[in-house]
Amino acid sequence: MGRVLNIDKPLEILRKGVDSKLETNLNACVKCSLCAESCMYYLAHKEPQYIPGAKAELVSSINRRYNTLSGRIAPALFNARELDGEMADKMVDMLFGSCTMCGRCVKHCSIGVDIPYIVRKGREMLAAMDMVPATLQSTVDAALNTGNNMAIPQEEFVDTIKWMEEDLIDEMGDQNARIPLDEYDKEIFYTLNPREPKFFPLSISAIAKIFYAAGESWTISSKYYDVTNYGFFNGNNQQAAQIAGYLYDEIHKLRGKKLVLGECGHGSRATRWEGPGYLKTEFDFETVTAVELLGSYIREGRIKLDKTLNNSKVTIHDPCNLVRNGGLYNQIRFVVKNAVSDFQEMNPYGEDNFCCGGGGGALAMSEYNERRIKIGEIKATQIARTGAKVVITPCHNCVDQLQQLNHTYKLGVKIMTLAEIVADALVINKQ
Ligand code: SF4
Ligand code: SF4
Repeated sequence: MGRVLNIDKPLEILRKGVDSKLETNLNACVKCSLCAESCMYYLAHKEPQYIPGAKAELVSSINRRYNTLSGRIAPALFNARELDGEMADKMVDMLFGSCTMCGRCVKHCSIGVDIPYIVRKGREMLAAMDMVPATLQSTVDAALNTGNNMAIPQEEFVDTIKWMEEDLIDEMGDQNARIPLDEYDKEIFYTLNPREPKFFPLSISAIAKIFYAAGESWTISSKYYDVTNYGFFNGNNQQAAQIAGYLYDEIHKLRGKKLVLGECGHGSRATRWEGPGYLKTEFDFETVTAVELLGSYIREGRIKLDKTLNNSKVTIHDPCNLVRNGGLYNQIRFVVKNAVSDFQEMNPYGEDNFCCGGGGGALAMSEYNERRIKIGEIKATQIARTGAKVVITPCHNCVDQLQQLNHTYKLGVKIMTLAEIVADALVINKQ
């Protein structure tokens, strides 16, 4: 006997009148399959189930079954499917395991069906049935329980920051060089991806060096510094709101004036663009990405760069949530072109760029590792064709996936964040 699911809650998400945007998108697809070649999962596997429209159809067919007269009366005729155990398992595999919510298919669909929006709603339905992959849910739980998704103890984080601060003092030859923790009334409340203190502390040094050069007034919270929000990926809006609330409450507690989102694509989106919706409030502080902040420093002459200090050929990997979905194409190029002397675009690039393969929570779901590395071959080939020695990406999730692709496909490139390449080009007049 098949297992019994409680489908009341997931069907409530599809109920007529609850979400008009969803209803429009669920009824819009004309099944032309023009989106197929836009999706790296389809390109890597060449199986119809990976066509973006087919993933959306999973949710649409359930909608037809329960919310249309024709689907209720003659489900087989209208391909209207029950939300049973088999269907739910298929949704987990396709909507969690086979979509990074990158949005590339939206740009290639002639009528602009918002596939990631439908995928996210499908994930909400699965979350309502407690069917989020355990690996992804444990990442969310870590953030809920400890304030950061890697469950880094506060003492360990403070030790790392103190160690980076000592290095900064040595490098600048200035006892006043600081990485300020938990300070009140600063202009900037800065956030990090927990991968930075855990695996890439030099990216914290890089931004600290830039803040030093710019004479910035800034601080990091020792407890709530995590810019990521995997609640954006697991489909549980209540948990996404709780995580977004940590930063919201902390910036108020420390009376910071501007929230600067560290280099993380989905974290920037989940905080800046989705956060007010999760929290059902307007933000009463300014919110900018690190990309925009670095651009403003260059434009305003607050930092000086010498691009000849970065002579290797450089290319950019555009994080989906910052460029295709966030509109920061020009801002990233403005910063990179001021920091390097030899720049080469990938093909395709910008809004049409392929996802690295690690988005949508994929990096957290180890059960899909093989699939993730396989779809990443497209990105690896893109990088190899540029002849670049350095790949810049302003997203630590992308950095992680690109490092793994670099290793697997023997690309021999260096993966760097935007702050790291800018820090390498800094000209600082030491006292
Ligand atoms: S959002 Fe990206 S990964 Fe998902 S179906 Fe569309 S192209 Fe494929
Ligand atoms: S999502 Fe768009 S491109 Fe893909 S099958 Fe549907 S209508 Fe065609």
